[in-house]
Amino acid sequence: MDLTWSDDEEAFRAEARAWLQENLAAWRDRHDGRILSGDTAEGFAQHLDWERTLFDGGWAVVSWPEAHGGRAASRWEWLIFEEEYYRAGAPPRITQNGIFLLAPTVFEYGTAAQQDHILRRMARGDDLWCQGWSEPDAGSDLASLSSRARRDDERGGWVLDGQKTWTTRGAFCTHLFGLFRTDPDSERHRGLTYLLVPLDLDGITVRGFGRLDGDEGFAEVFLDGAFLPDDALPGGPVLGEVGAGWSVAMATTSSERGLTLRSPGRFTATADRLADLYRERGGRDPALRDRVVQAWMHAEAYRLQTLQTVTADADGHPAGARSSLVKLWWSELDVALHETALDILGPDAELDGPWTKGWQFALSGPIYAGTNEIQRNIAAERVLGLPRK
Ligand SMILES: Cc1cc2nc3c(=O)[nH]c(=O)nc-3n(C[C@H](O)[C@H](O)[C@H](O)COP(=O)(O)OP(=O)(O)OC[C@H]3O[C@@H](n4cnc5c(N)ncnc54)[C@H](O)[C@@H]3O)c2cc1C
Repeated sequence: MDLTWSDDEEAFRAEARAWLQENLAAWRDRHDGRILSGDTAEGFAQHLDWERTLFDGGWAVVSWPEAHGGRAASRWEWLIFEEEYYRAGAPPRITQNGIFLLAPTVFEYGTAAQQDHILRRMARGDDLWCQGWSEPDAGSDLASLSSRARRDDERGGWVLDGQKTWTTRGAFCTHLFGLFRTDPDSERHRGLTYLLVPLDLDGITVRGFGRLDGDEGFAEVFLDGAFLPDDALPGGPVLGEVGAGWSVAMATTSSERGLTLRSPGRFTATADRLADLYRERGGRDPALRDRVVQAWMHAEAYRLQTLQTVTADADGHPAGARSSLVKLWWSELDVALHETALDILGPDAELDGPWTKGWQFALSGPIYAGTNEIQRNIAAERVLGLPRK
């Protein structure tokens, strides 16, 4: 693994940095410097304006082929872009469930017609995708899900019934990807199908609800006999084969736990801001200083480990179950970074501010993308080869 960037990669970094600086300033000016949370209706619209700016500049999906709106950047260049993105203080991507979770699965399992239709529209922010996995009785044990899709050959489509919950930004999205039981006699992982569902079908009700931090960023999706026609989108609404949805979904969860959802740039930028905060507000407390140093080193170690993961992947050794270790790492690192910041702020941490808001969200990291208890089970059984309990 060579840790020096080539001249071309340095040029790519400089181009990204200059573009971000100029366009972020213009975006902030357009909104009078008042930047809202992307997990509220008004904030979502504001952030969509940023997403479209990214697309127009050619930076929305840097690693995708040009035909789908990308610039065919290498995985290394993608990491460089992410570092610059977070270093510039650019906003979280409201399109991430589509771009970082669904899209890799569409590249792997989608037909040419599906890829042509879905990817560019997703990158441009025309279609906004939310993830419909969890149900009231199916979270960690996702295979127990009970939402159904019944084939209706006469009308040419599927009839959907059931309920999805915890869909991030579902109330602001246009489409949902999710798993449905298509074989009523099947159990667990069998007889499931991965469906792509426009949320404006008759029989679908989307009800937003609030999170701990007050933003209305979640939604429940109720499906009451909604008819999903085969021509709902070019190439049809089934991703992969009917009945084989579980293995298609596993491709999505490995993207979610692994690299694409949480690139290291997010944490190294937060670690740098933490060091700045300590310099400004930390006084001379050696215990706090040690925690800042530890958190900063863990962020840097995560970055180095990611470079190793990308090298291994490029050499034909995909992460597989080791993506569970990546998930444990980033989620616990995020909590440690923010808890240290709150301790530096002391009583001021009680006031609303970016560190407090960030901490509230960091607390959910060990839960979403599969809870950390489950990731530890996976690591024990599939990475270390320990016996199942
Ligand atoms: C911020 C956030 C965003 C989310 N976004 C989405 C989204 O967009 N789409 C979506 O579909 N879902 C989403 N979720 C839901 C998330 O995926 C689930 O919360 C998660 O899978 C856990 O399921 P659960 O909440 O039903 O908890 P449960 O499965 O009921 O688990 C409760 C507790 O028991 C533990 N536990 C359960 N089984 C075991 C076991 N076998 N061994 C050890 N411990 C176990 C769990 O680790 C957990 O601590 C989101 C959640 C959060 C917090």
